[in-house]
Amino acid sequence: MSRRWYTSPDGRIVYVGWDRALQQFWLSIVALCPECGGMGEELGTEIPCMACLGEGVSRDAPTTNVGAKELDAIGAALGKEGIALPDQVRTDLESDKQTNAGDIVHDYGQV
Ligand SMILES: [Zn+2]
Repeated sequence: MSRRWYTSPDGRIVYVGWDRALQQFWLSIVALCPECGGMGEELGTEIPCMACLGEGVSRDAPTTNVGAKELDAIGAALGKEGIALPDQVRTDLESDKQTNAGDIVHDYGQV
């Protein structure tokens, strides 16, 4: 399974990749907890964040999970969330499909 991710301009983390076992693309959109910024702890302490119970993920914004054979469906699901699929990511995902990629981990950072 390839695992690639980037941060959308509004601070959500978009995970995408090619699932070799299922032979399809997968997508997961996660919103970081606004209280702790995804740390899961209160700033400068080891006390678990009360807002997210230490998970670092916003509990108000549900996580989106999508699996699809076609990359266009992934792009459409992202579009519904108001997030673009950068050309670079799209190109890499196409290549993951062609090569039936196994263990690829890639962080694009902020796009
Ligand atoms: Zn939190």
